[in-house]
Amino acid sequence: MRLTFNSNTDPKIDSSDWTNWTWQLKNSLSTLQDFEKCLTLTEDERRFFDKKSPFQVRVTPYYMQLATTPAIRKILLPSQMEYQAFTQEMPDPLAETKNNPVSRIVHRYPDRALFLITDMCSVYCRFCTRKYFTGQEQSFIKSNEYEAALSYIKSKPQIREVILSGGDPLTISDQLLLKTLKDLRAIEHVEIIRIGSRMPVVCPMRITRELALGLREYAPVFFMTHFNHPKELTAEAGAALGLLVDHGIPVFNQSVLLNGVNNHPAIMQALSRRLLYLRVKPYYMFQCDPSMGSDHLRTSVEESLAIQRELWGRLSGLAMPNLSLDIPGGGGKVALVPEFETSHFGNKRTYCGFDGISGEYVNPCPTLHALPDDIADYAEEFELIKKKSL
Ligand SMILES: *Cc1c(COP(=O)(O)O)cnc(C)c1O
Ligand code: SF4
Repeated sequence: MRLTFNSNTDPKIDSSDWTNWTWQLKNSLSTLQDFEKCLTLTEDERRFFDKKSPFQVRVTPYYMQLATTPAIRKILLPSQMEYQAFTQEMPDPLAETKNNPVSRIVHRYPDRALFLITDMCSVYCRFCTRKYFTGQEQSFIKSNEYEAALSYIKSKPQIREVILSGGDPLTISDQLLLKTLKDLRAIEHVEIIRIGSRMPVVCPMRITRELALGLREYAPVFFMTHFNHPKELTAEAGAALGLLVDHGIPVFNQSVLLNGVNNHPAIMQALSRRLLYLRVKPYYMFQCDPSMGSDHLRTSVEESLAIQRELWGRLSGLAMPNLSLDIPGGGGKVALVPEFETSHFGNKRTYCGFDGISGEYVNPCPTLHALPDDIADYAEEFELIKKKSL
């Protein structure tokens, strides 16, 4: 395998360029010629470029280096299989365009909304669920759309949490990103801000001390990243995650189970343990959505559940991600949990645990049931979220 695109091996690349995130973005690879400079492509990979691609291709030089691991190569390099229709293919599997009250806002759950501030990513993952939007190179949101999105959030007091997403919100400058955080913080009912970004994986040099200091100003800011394979946890990625956590920004990881990439409990266990060691909480392990051209990258629900079952009890609860599926058509997320109950009769249930030991659980006597006396202190807030229509 040839890999010349690296400051260590190519004397034409200066190491100060290599560690500069804007250089990584400007020098990202997107054409057949770019890829052929770095790798020997298979016939299948090469033939993808014969037709007009339905979904952008782009990879940072940094992430391209990781393509020596075949699993990671499948995430970043397209294949002809993307043109083939298989069992289920939806341009917008989560029906986000149905829950899109104003441009750039996806509001599906009462108390939290997505704010898609850019459609750009520095790497286009072949399994992306938002192919209807991502990568149209509209870049940062236009100012009229930005104002309309902010007004929408302001007008909905039930929105407690805003999730900056895209595209990748960290492809925009610190200045624009921090201005967005400032504008969101000025809205009284916005309590939590989340940033969903794959930059720590594909361009860890994006996480600078200045950025971490900037994010800290707008706490509580939660950072959601997206590692799928232990080989993505390089020294550079570890340093980026460390910077965030050291600046008081909690980091969570959302992974996607992918066929031929990470669909084995040994891989998911290694990924989860290493993330936890780096103080990153594995949060979700998603069933891959049936986006266009994703059949060859998806696992079956049975396989995903079998992986979750293997991890159960053997992996620290802290390192355990929740297996979750987004119901196609916009039903929202549902947990996929292995079945541990082996029988249920009257008020008795039997469970068989992770390593085969069974036991019975008996409900308490129903006449003893009581509710806390201070419900009234909390009921109003609870009902408000339940009742408020979107
Ligand atoms: C996943 C998702 C969220 C966040 O859900 P959590 O379970 O809180 O992580 C919010 N809005 C939409 C539209 C989503 O798909
Ligand atoms: S980083 Fe996220 S939004 Fe961008 S291509 Fe990958 S999965 Fe899609």
